[in-house]
This record gives sequence, structure tokens and C-alpha cells, in this order.
Amino acid sequence: MSQTARRRPIATMAILWIVLYTGAVLLPVVLANTLSWAHRPESGFLLNLSRNLALAGLSILALQFVVAARLQWIEAYFGLDAILWFHKAMAVFAVLMLLAHPLLIAWGHGNWTILTRLVVPWPVQLGRIALLLLLAVVGTSLGRRVFRLEYERWRRLHNVLVLAVLGLGFVHGLIMGSGRHGDLSTWPMRILWSGLFLIALAAYLHHRWFAPRRNRLAPCEVIAVGRESHDVWTIKVRATLNGNGRRHLPGQFYFITFLDSALPEEEHPFSISSSPTENGYLTFTIKAAGDFTQSIASLRPGDRAMIRGPFGRFSHILRSGREDIVFIAGGVGITPLISMLRYMRDTGDPRRVVLIFVNRAQRDILFRDELEKMQRVGRPQLRVIHVLSRPQGAWNGETGRLNHEIMQKYISDLVGTSSFYICGPLPLTRLAIKILRQMGVFQADIHTEQFTF
Ligand SMILES: Cc1cc2nc3c(=O)[nH]c(=O)nc-3n(C[C@H](O)[C@H](O)[C@H](O)COP(=O)(O)OP(=O)(O)OC[C@H]3O[C@@H](n4cnc5c(N)ncnc54)[C@H](O)[C@@H]3O)c2cc1C
Repeated sequence: MSQTARRRPIATMAILWIVLYTGAVLLPVVLANTLSWAHRPESGFLLNLSRNLALAGLSILALQFVVAARLQWIEAYFGLDAILWFHKAMAVFAVLMLLAHPLLIAWGHGNWTILTRLVVPWPVQLGRIALLLLLAVVGTSLGRRVFRLEYERWRRLHNVLVLAVLGLGFVHGLIMGSGRHGDLSTWPMRILWSGLFLIALAAYLHHRWFAPRRNRLAPCEVIAVGRESHDVWTIKVRATLNGNGRRHLPGQFYFITFLDSALPEEEHPFSISSSPTENGYLTFTIKAAGDFTQSIASLRPGDRAMIRGPFGRFSHILRSGREDIVFIAGGVGITPLISMLRYMRDTGDPRRVVLIFVNRAQRDILFRDELEKMQRVGRPQLRVIHVLSRPQGAWNGETGRLNHEIMQKYISDLVGTSSFYICGPLPLTRLAIKILRQMGVFQADIHTEQFTF
């Protein structure tokens, strides 16, 4: 995506997508009621509500596949984190609607044994299985961390379960709704219903099958693997033509899968630490955090990598060019910020930048020499404030947790004229936001990137 495209007024496109989404959820309900209402025998408020909730709930479920498909022409206007937040929120609505469906039927008929009877027609049985699987999706998603379910395993399970829920739910709806006065007894409704199902399937196949295979045809090559600190490495990959490695914004990220290496073939998100001004290659600076990242040092020049992206709206160039800038980074959270700093350096950006960089000890400070050089040379006009929670040996800088006093001391004069960008562990991000808000910074001026979805 070019920078001009990114800078298009996003509000219009975002509103268009929201209207389209709302329309797609409401259309089956409106159409079903308009087309079959007049001919439908009196079935009562509860039964009608139950049917409408099922129609809307399944439509949301179908659109979940589109929302989660990482389509760049939608993502560019919202950012992937906002889209994934929306995906989770809509999942809650869909689950509540679909759970209410059988309850309202039982209530409407005044017969609660409908819920517990073992022998029921097979399409009803399909609906029941779909609901049970849906509950399994909710349970595994909410309890992933509690049950220590590995992210990749959870994701594979999630993909299989949601596909099964959608398939069973649509067949259930099609058969139950095809009766004489059913919601799907008219051709327009059947076409709409099948269309929704096909759109969901197409989005799924694009996301899980087509896009990965297309990327596999044009892999990037790892050209260098360098050590940044005791537990952080920078991987340099040669960007290929064919879409991969296309121009990105400073601060964006890619999903990377390494091929033919000692690493498992899994897709993980990493911010681009290089600047778009560095042509022909991309760098990713990666901390050994878990199973996958701990093996990152085993990569060798010549290994191949599939990259998918770029994604994200965490970039200073998406905002007005007038303000000064405050960056707050925790540990490896510096990666999107160093990309922005390098970009500002290379493009001669005149804005003032203050970087508050929080680490545990001196040996954890990434890009220390480069940051010092930027300060010395004045490109960009940078001031770096190091905060170490456990400094080792002699240390002149700030010590302890980030707090109100430190922020007040270094950035109080920038409140009201600056944008604030925070990337680091969640507790640090929350603390920084809290202090900034206490200092009078508007929420709209605070931008964050989290390293978890
Ligand atoms: C937008 C974004 C940008 C990131 N940029 C960087 C960066 O520049 N440098 C860096 O070191 N780290 C970055 N991360 C974090 C990095 O993706 C995780 O540390 C890495 O995926 C952990 O994998 P693991 O198996 O080694 O660790 P694990 O211990 O298995 O995972 C730790 C946590 O990372 C998340 N995670 C694990 N696997 C995935 C996956 N496949 N997809 C998404 N999330 C996953 C989960 O929340 C999990 O709980 C970024 C994450 C995001 C979301």
C-alpha cells in the first residue's frame, strides 16, 4: 500500500465499511421478515425474535471470516489491532444471539423439554452440535492463557471449530428455514444465505490457503542475522518483488514464516525495525520470548522467509506533521519506534522528539549507540531519557519504575503540542497512558502498539 493511499481520508472509507458490514448483518433479517411476514401464520413475539437473532447471529459469524482474513484493503483504514478487537466483540454478540435462539424457542412454545429431549430431528441435532462447538470456541479462547494452551495450537483448534460451527449452523438454518413459512423458503433469501456462506468460505480460503501459497511462491531471503543484545537478534531479509516487501510505513509490522530452517513453520508478527528509506531490504529485531523466538538465532543467511503485510496504523506519518513527538518504549517495544526515528533521520524531519526508553538494565538497551548518534548529530532532534528498573554498576540516568515525576520532568512542556506513541509490555503501556491522561494529554493524541493480539 502506497503512502498516498494510506493518507486518503480514512473516515469516508471506514464509514463505508461500517455501513456495508451493518447492511450485511441486517439484510437477511429485513429480507426474511419482508418476504415471508405476510404469509407467516401467527407465531408470537418470542419465536420471531428467536429466528431473527439466529439470522443475525449466523450472519455475524459468517462475516467474522472476512473480518479475520487480514484483508489489507479493509485493514488499512482501521489497523489490525482494532479489527481484531472488533472481531472479538462481535463474537460475543453472535454467541449471545445464537445461545438465545433455542432458549426463546423453548420459552415461546412454553416447553423447556425441547432443550433436553434426546431424540430430535437431525437438522435440530446439527444446530445443537453447532452450539456446543461454539461454546468450545468461547471456552478455548477465554481460557487460552489459564489453560496455558500454546498460541499456535489454539489458533489451529479455533480455525477448525469455527469452520465446523459455520457449516453446521448454515445447514441447520437452511433446512429448518426452508419449511412452508420458513425464513429461507423464498429464493432471494436462499441466494442471500448461500452468498453469505460462500463469502465466508472465500475469505477463509484466501486467508488460510491462497495468500500463504502465493507468498510461498515469492519468498524473501535472509541476508544477515546479527546479535543486538544478550537475548535479541536482528534479521535482515531481502525484500522481493511480487508484492512482498512492498513499501511500508515506519512503525508497521509483517507476519513472518521462516521456511527450511530449524524454526517451526509458524506465522508470527514482527515490527519492521528498518526505515522505508532503506531500500531493498527489511529488518526485524526479535527478542527470545518463547518456543519460536528462542530459536531465532539458528537462522542463517540464505534461509527463506514468507512475509505477509505490511499491517498496522502505528505510524507517526499517519498524523498531522505539525506536532512534536513523544515516544515511550519498553524493551523490544522500541522496534516500531526506531523505524520511525530512522525515517525521521533520513527524511530530515524537523520535529522535536523525546524518547523515554524503559529497560531493566544497561545490557537490555537496544540501539544505544545509534540513539546516541542521533542525539549528537541532531537528526532527528532527539532527546533520549533512559529509565532502568535494575541498573547494574554505575548509572547516571533515571532509576526505578516509570512514574509521574519522571514524565513531568521531561515532557510536561510537550503536552498539548505533541503526539504520544507507546510500545511496550501491557503494564507499562497502561501506566504510561494513566500518567499522560493525568498530565492532561487527550486520549486521541495517545497511540499504542501491543505485541499481543
Ligand atoms: C503487532 C506485533 C508486533 C510485534 N513486533 C515484535 C518485534 O518487533 N519484536 C519482537 O521480539 N516481538 C514482536 N512481537 C511479539 C512476537 O510476535 C511474539 O513475541 C512471538 O510471536 C512469540 O512467539 P513465541 O512462540 O516465541 O512465544 P510464546 O511464548 O509461544 O508466545 C508468547 C505470546 O506471543 C503471542 N504469540 C505467540 N505466537 C503468536 C503468533 N503466531 N501470532 C501472534 N501472536 C503470537 C501470544 O500472545 C503468546 O501468548 C510483535 C507482536 C505483535 C502482535
